[in-house]
Amino acid sequence: MTAQPLTAASAASASAASAAADCGPLPVLGREVEVPLVGGEKVAYAALDYAASAPALQRVWDDVAAYAPYYGSVHRGAGYLSQLSTDLFEQSRQAVADFLDLREDDQVVFTRATTDSLNLLASALPAGTRVLAFETEHHASLLPWRRDGLTADYLPAPRSPQQAVAALEEALAAAPEGPTLLCVTGASNVTGEIWPVAELTETAHRYGARVVLDAAQLAPHHRVSVRELGVDWVAFSGHKLYAPFGAGVLAGRSDWLDAAEPYLAGGGASRTVARAADGSVAVEWHSGPARHEAGSPNVIGAYAVASACRALSETGFDALQAREQRLLARLRTGLAEIPEVQVLSLFGEDHARVGVLSFVVRGWNSSHLAAALSAEYGIGVRDGLFCAHPLVRTLLGGTADAPSECGAPEPSLPGERSLNAIRVSFGAG
Ligand code: PLP
Repeated sequence: MTAQPLTAASAASASAASAAADCGPLPVLGREVEVPLVGGEKVAYAALDYAASAPALQRVWDDVAAYAPYYGSVHRGAGYLSQLSTDLFEQSRQAVADFLDLREDDQVVFTRATTDSLNLLASALPAGTRVLAFETEHHASLLPWRRDGLTADYLPAPRSPQQAVAALEEALAAAPEGPTLLCVTGASNVTGEIWPVAELTETAHRYGARVVLDAAQLAPHHRVSVRELGVDWVAFSGHKLYAPFGAGVLAGRSDWLDAAEPYLAGGGASRTVARAADGSVAVEWHSGPARHEAGSPNVIGAYAVASACRALSETGFDALQAREQRLLARLRTGLAEIPEVQVLSLFGEDHARVGVLSFVVRGWNSSHLAAALSAEYGIGVRDGLFCAHPLVRTLLGGTADAPSECGAPEPSLPGERSLNAIRVSFGAG
């Protein structure tokens, strides 16, 4: 590698490393982990990829460890530990409901993660539903709606929150009758920018449309009140909210969920199953969360998510946001010293963002720089198109529709337009 990218990498690394050294209000696991550099020296790992998966909170880990000796099957055992686990599982549901400030008749369904939650909702939409989504969405919010019985309409990238609201209004005004759903992300996993969720929801509701909020990136950084935002459903992932992998949430209105075929067919979702006179099997399905949670649930995962929700609520988002904004400012000051750096933004550099920021260093392949940050400085960031291909291509000055393979960044040469980006993200601890 020549002197120029090393200068860029070392300047970027200095601001990134100083960001990582700043301990937050909620201690996380992994701060002590040492990783080897190319020269053999070991340094403390600087995890700056919270937007992909955040480290678990120490408190979540402690809660899970305390519960681990006592868990048993839920909703299907007479034994003491089964009863205890059933109680803790249902209390976990309530903790999530409190965290999201749900309405009385909303329900919490435990899923595997946001992708699973949105696919579950897609499977539960009434036949003929038109789904609107901006092409700037993460693929998890963009792709589940491409299925028989639904119409997916993609809205072009807006360049301001006002444009987003106006584009939605125009699409809804021109809409045919029938059920309509807007899927919108609360905070971009690429730019970190916060979307005008309340305004979009108010507009959607005026036209009788419903809204699902992809809170995968918003919930770890901001209070999400379903009552205040007015959204009909919200989805998030435990592993981005400082819980371990494997559990996520879809929460919100019960009517469409209770009317739909179960997401998975099997035990737990079925109330009664009987042989019918004609030799077939007749099933009566549960309503409520059990309908879409067939099979033995991920009790530990749900318990961990609930623990993270409680920890975040008790600490409060003010303290988290103060730290994140401090880190963002430090990162931006460092990046501003590198003339080749371009910070990616859809709504303008001053628009509010969570602790997620992507950039390119003009003329350099972001994958090479990300590899150098890891090998030479022990800093873990993400590079590529971040499962938001149309958005990243738009931000890099191309078109939203050039083909590319997920996770396979294209090379860029000095002087050429960058074709992939670097993302730095952090959070509570
Ligand atoms: N939505 C957004 C905004 C995301 O950033 C992500 C993951 O990065 C997802 C959805 C998908 O989350 P998961 O991989 O946990 O299903």
